[in-house]
Amino acid sequence: MSPDEFRAHGHELVEWIARYLETVRDRAVLPEVNPGEVIDALPAQGPEQGEPFSQILEDFNDTILPGSTLWNHPRFFSYFAVSSTPPSMLAEFLSAALNQNGILWKSGPALTELEQVVLGWIREWIHLPEDFFGIIYDSASNSTLHALIAARQSVSPRTRQEGALQNLMVYTSGQAHSSVEKDALALGFGEANIRKIAHDAEFRLSLPDLEAALEADVKAGKIPCCIVPTIGATPTASIDPVVDMIALARRYGCWAHIDAAYAGPVALLDEKSWIFQGWEQADSIVLNPHKWMFVNVDTSVLYIRRKDQLSDAIGLTPEYLKTKADPRMINYMDYSISLGRRFRALKLWMTLRYYGREGIADLIRSHIEMAGRLKDQIAADPRFEVVAPVHFGLVCFRMKDSNEKNQKLMDTLNASGFAFLSHTVQNGQYVLRFSIGNWMTTQQDVEQTWERIQKVAAEL
Ligand code: PLP
Repeated sequence: MSPDEFRAHGHELVEWIARYLETVRDRAVLPEVNPGEVIDALPAQGPEQGEPFSQILEDFNDTILPGSTLWNHPRFFSYFAVSSTPPSMLAEFLSAALNQNGILWKSGPALTELEQVVLGWIREWIHLPEDFFGIIYDSASNSTLHALIAARQSVSPRTRQEGALQNLMVYTSGQAHSSVEKDALALGFGEANIRKIAHDAEFRLSLPDLEAALEADVKAGKIPCCIVPTIGATPTASIDPVVDMIALARRYGCWAHIDAAYAGPVALLDEKSWIFQGWEQADSIVLNPHKWMFVNVDTSVLYIRRKDQLSDAIGLTPEYLKTKADPRMINYMDYSISLGRRFRALKLWMTLRYYGREGIADLIRSHIEMAGRLKDQIAADPRFEVVAPVHFGLVCFRMKDSNEKNQKLMDTLNASGFAFLSHTVQNGQYVLRFSIGNWMTTQQDVEQTWERIQKVAAEL
């Protein structure tokens, strides 16, 4: 593609995106598409000859867009709602043009140093001390995987030479995200060595149960390796007793890793600082800027106190990547399973600079306020009940009716395309999750969706 052609198509695409942002509210959040439909609409064989970009764009409009769930829609209230803001989109454009690969400092000096700078800003904003080293991975699942690698290295330093011990234990809540268990499985801890602790009435991990499990395991010759509290657990955004869990980790000589993938960015808000008090005593913390800091997927940050535990466990430098050491030089490959590294810091940098700390905090605050108002409206309707405390942007509620009716309510709403909610099952009850986190969401979006929910409920 010549520079002139690129210029023309580039302008066209920027225009496409601007128009998309202007009109996305009128589109269906969930596509009306059946499994296999996108595959059937596309040729099974790749093109022998190149095709005009205008034709490719036409097929994007006709096939890819109608087959896409619109995560960047102001009434996407499913899972944990996330956003891609314009500065983040523009940064991705630039990042693709530079095509950096930050294996080593030398292979991407600006990438490596910008990652440290921008993660230093966030670290200060969320009140973590400077001895937390920051690193970006693609997902919270991957961040937690690396935290568990470091945890295992710290508790069992001979793992690298001799392989993993079979009696190392991981503790988390039954409400924790499945990535904790999946990561532990991938590392070979074994299902029998992953304890999913019960929770209390507010969906917080039960400390007495955790303590009892630790005590019993130690008596049985097991070795506690890692305790994982969550701030903002996936089903109801509950908050585990972080400080007490870290204290137990200290008492039993194991690692404490906090999963704050969703709610971590809320630490920017002074009025919410009580939630994060004491979290700086953890060994590692994950938070996802791609969840609630308005950059597009894939941006997850791990803050880790002893990064040497990672390099001790998985650091490996083949001859062709050896470079002269320098005290100011970091080679991110020493702390990561993947060798290559995208320039994710660029979109973080551009987005944080565009909004500033206050702008990001104001957006998050507006989502939390919308969730608070929605909670009050739901609580005021005698047909419904709110089933979990609302600390963040998530409201969990249900009709005071059967599970089938609640599922029908959600399916009917989602099928309308107007909004998209997800669900959880808690204490045997089907619960609807209304998650507010998109930068375009307005109070009107929330109210109109709540009105639709009420209307559907009346019709059921
Ligand atoms: N932790 C929590 C609390 C989550 O809610 C999620 C996903 O929603 C994850 C971890 C996994 O995130 P990722 O998709 O970035 O792996």
